[in-house]
Amino acid sequence: MTRKVVVLAETREQTLRNISFESIAAGKYISEGGEVVAVLIGESITPLANELFHYGADRVITIEDPLLRNYSSDGYTQALHSIIEKENPQSIIIGHTALGKDIAPRIAAKLDVGLISDVTEIELVGGNVIFTRPIYSGKAFEKKICTANPIFATIRPNNINPLQKDENRTGEIESLQTQVKDLRTVIKEVVRKTTEGVDLSEAKVVVAGGRGVKSPEGFEPLKELAEVLGGAVGASRGACDADYCDYSLQIGQTGKVVTPDLYIACGISGAIQHLAGMSNSKVIVAINKDPEANIFQVADYGIVGDLFEVVPMLTEEIKKL
Ligand code: FAD
Repeated sequence: MTRKVVVLAETREQTLRNISFESIAAGKYISEGGEVVAVLIGESITPLANELFHYGADRVITIEDPLLRNYSSDGYTQALHSIIEKENPQSIIIGHTALGKDIAPRIAAKLDVGLISDVTEIELVGGNVIFTRPIYSGKAFEKKICTANPIFATIRPNNINPLQKDENRTGEIESLQTQVKDLRTVIKEVVRKTTEGVDLSEAKVVVAGGRGVKSPEGFEPLKELAEVLGGAVGASRGACDADYCDYSLQIGQTGKVVTPDLYIACGISGAIQHLAGMSNSKVIVAINKDPEANIFQVADYGIVGDLFEVVPMLTEEIKKL
């Protein structure tokens, strides 16, 4: 059965986030040869549309409005809902990002359909789309079939590979003139924390520190290791609570969920709430001086030792490669 799939493209500071391309790939798979319509919402975002074609979108619809310059729940819900009403797709895919987690339930309520959230895998069996998603903080996985129309899911970042980029793929950009109105909140100004380097939620390598780093300065060797690996620094809540680093780095049940190719946990005990945010990482390396630490239960490679000795040694060895 072919399907028309609407996917939401996400932008940050005038660039497309990887989740946009991952959503297109998921949409393409579900469409079974149907059509993937990528939606771009914001201000001055139309020049980004071509890249969506390069990654497999069949059509791109843009809504440009100064009121949509910054994300607002009301504004984006109105804009995306108007496109869904017009396009009447058989499926909708949005990233399971901060934005996606906010907007998807609102859209689902407006459409009066169910939502399958935080999908990590998609299969097609006998015409059914089967979604796999983690439950009980990642301790188990469930498979779900959606019988509603449209099928609506959010996908976890870094789990579904984008399609090969093809710069020769192009298409016609359709701009929809929808005026968003009656916004209950308007973002006047965005004050960003200056974060250096790679975006944690999209990083391929994460070097995370826990209470074992002992101080803000204790994060320095982790930053160096992350830098030589082209990765990002993350943290446990223990480290954030102790003021060793900012809460924007927190990984876990009440922090960010990451799925990098390589996760290096340094001085992190491996509490269930932390594992909920990283246990799906492809390769996990744990460095802990306690051989009984729970983190070793989920680690592919474990190093029992003092992180202040092990981490600089790793950095030096990697520099030699
Ligand atoms: P600890 O448990 O204190 O572990 C420190 C580890 O460092 C120990 O294993 C120790 O052996 C090791 N260590 C010490 N010194 C060294 C050294 N020199 N070299 C090597 N190893 C060393 N936690 C999260 O991380 N993310 C969340 O999102 C989160 N959400 C929560 C939500 C709720 C509702 C609750 C109740 C808790 C939540 N927590 C969360 C907290 C969680 O339960 C743990 O308290 C926290 O993860 C512990 O952080 P930690 O592993 O850094 O610290």
